[in-house]
Amino acid sequence: MVQHRWRCRLLSEDDLEGRSILTQVPGTPGPIVRGEGSRDSIDLLCGSCGRVLAKGIQTSLLTNVVLRCPCGAHNDTNLV
Ligand SMILES: [Zn+2]
Repeated sequence: MVQHRWRCRLLSEDDLEGRSILTQVPGTPGPIVRGEGSRDSIDLLCGSCGRVLAKGIQTSLLTNVVLRCPCGAHNDTNLV
């Protein structure tokens, strides 16, 4: 099975208005979002540190969502 990986675009604080922000629960290893790993799913990596923030997800589920990495970076889940 082909696993696609996408390094997220980073957002500044000014870009966060009106977006849903998902944060990793402190003390958990992550990723923040875990999908079913179905055929067209991808992994989303932090655009700053490269950590896996979402694993095996359908990106259509995460439209307009921001993933806040434990490193402090805000990652855009829109694939642009
Ligand atoms: Zn990071």
